[in-house]
Amino acid sequence: MEHLYLDAASTEPVGGNVISVMMPFLTEAYANPMSVHSAGKTAARALEAARGSIAADLGARPDDVIFTSGGTEADNLAIKGIAMARIRLLRESYGEQVRPRIIVSSIEHPAVLESARWMERWFGCEVVEIPVDHQAHIDLDALRAELAQSDLDSSSDSVSGTSGKPCNCTLLVSTMLANNEVGTVEPVNEIARIAHEHGVPLHVDAVQAAGLIPIRMREWDVDALSLSGHKFGTPKGLGALLLRSRVPVEPLMSGGGQERSLRSGTQNVAGAVALAVALRDSNTRMHEIGRALVASRDRLIDAVLRVEPRAQLTGDSQRRLPGHASFVFPGLSGEALLVDLDARGIACSSGSACAVGRHEAPGTLLAMGYDPAVAKSAIRMTFREPLTLEQINQIASVVEESCNSLRGASTVSDPSINVQAQQALA
Ligand code: PLP
Repeated sequence: MEHLYLDAASTEPVGGNVISVMMPFLTEAYANPMSVHSAGKTAARALEAARGSIAADLGARPDDVIFTSGGTEADNLAIKGIAMARIRLLRESYGEQVRPRIIVSSIEHPAVLESARWMERWFGCEVVEIPVDHQAHIDLDALRAELAQSDLDSSSDSVSGTSGKPCNCTLLVSTMLANNEVGTVEPVNEIARIAHEHGVPLHVDAVQAAGLIPIRMREWDVDALSLSGHKFGTPKGLGALLLRSRVPVEPLMSGGGQERSLRSGTQNVAGAVALAVALRDSNTRMHEIGRALVASRDRLIDAVLRVEPRAQLTGDSQRRLPGHASFVFPGLSGEALLVDLDARGIACSSGSACAVGRHEAPGTLLAMGYDPAVAKSAIRMTFREPLTLEQINQIASVVEESCNSLRGASTVSDPSINVQAQQALA
């Protein structure tokens, strides 16, 4: 039986094309792009071309692009950097009565949530989590209500609270474009409009969406947007924060002043070129195979729900990432199912990669209102190439065997697999 990798949302292989475009910048044009000699200028030109290409593909301007070491760093820079800069500016204008808050959705990746909580620990920011519904749509009325509680916003010239009394001030809103666990796509243009009505900047974590659905950063009026290359075919440890110059940001890294002084450190030219080429390739593929990816996602969902009627699709059935199918299997352990499926040749995930091994219920499902025991039965199958009918049938029959096996039914073809799954979890 064919071994199937259905964990593209965790990471992707590096494309051959990407490796070949990187090579010259590792072996020949390896100079430091800050060097003034001609070799340095060659490297700097490649860096700027990569910046321009990424900006063009995401509806941004070249100056918006700040290269980082990945999605986690981009999220940290956005949350901590914007929050720290806005606290300083607001306190300069209004003094110590400013009571800072950060608004995030309740389904954010730990890179966002933990950055916000870090601001809570070190700067006393209140972290407000906006709830989602059962399909992981962010509650826009709750967002409006929370923003309305900011006594002070950057569009007003004065403190609206009584002088001397603490005044709530929202430093930024951060929401994801597409959720990593259940694939639901959020209306970030609408969220940007709501945030801006209160003069609050919006950061969008687009790590799962980039290269899979179109992104128009400036058209949507988003202030900051995070990317991670290894989700669309670069080596790990490459990413970018797209950040509009109108947003104040405090750098987290001090040093030589590269990347608009917001991310010091010698730039990884080969990495930047890889990011640009992989994003361009993914965007091209998005147009070529997008429909096929959606069709095979929907066929896979139908097939799994047919063989395992107790399973439920998680997330929105329509407004979800192509190539993203996620389920709960009530009554089963997601971890045991994962190990059993792997033993039968199917590599998938039980939620976000970061949660694996911790045996915790996926945070997104809890926020969506799933019972913790049901949330622990989650399985996510993600892919960036359309699946053939044969592959879909293979997955469905393996899921059926695996579920039956874990329930102790007699249809299991190799009972030792179940034992292996239990042992792996012991
Ligand atoms: N944000 C989201 C939504 C993610 O899914 C991930 C990784 O899975 C990250 C951020 C972190 O990205 P990186 O692995 O590049 O640090």
